[in-house]
Amino acid sequence: MARRAEPTPRVVPVRAMVSTVEFSTAEHPMTEQCPSEDSEPIRTCVGCRSRVARSHLLRIVVVGGELLPDVRRRMHGRGAHVHPDLACVELAERRKAFPRALRVAGPLGLKQVRAHLEQYPRNTGG
Ligand SMILES: [Zn+2]
Repeated sequence: MARRAEPTPRVVPVRAMVSTVEFSTAEHPMTEQCPSEDSEPIRTCVGCRSRVARSHLLRIVVVGGELLPDVRRRMHGRGAHVHPDLACVELAERRKAFPRALRVAGPLGLKQVRAHLEQYPRNTGG
């Protein structure tokens, strides 16, 4: 009986989840504004999924399970972008787009966002 030492292959479990590859939305406050024109970052509305200039969208952050409108875009953490329109916000809520975009477990409160949108109705002027 020859005992052959079998080289035990070290199987490293690959757990890399590459199913949802997305562009990094990390925003570094140190990033200098590029002076070139028409270089405004494009963001996708989590409601209607249309891609528009970031300034047309409202940044939403989550604080303690409550969604908050980040009007000045200065709050830390992940942000979700949505049209400042209740229709898009509600659409995003139905699709559970906020928890997905913000990488947190839902459900998330929308009271602050609703209040914000009711206080500042959509600006239709161009
Ligand atoms: Zn939208």
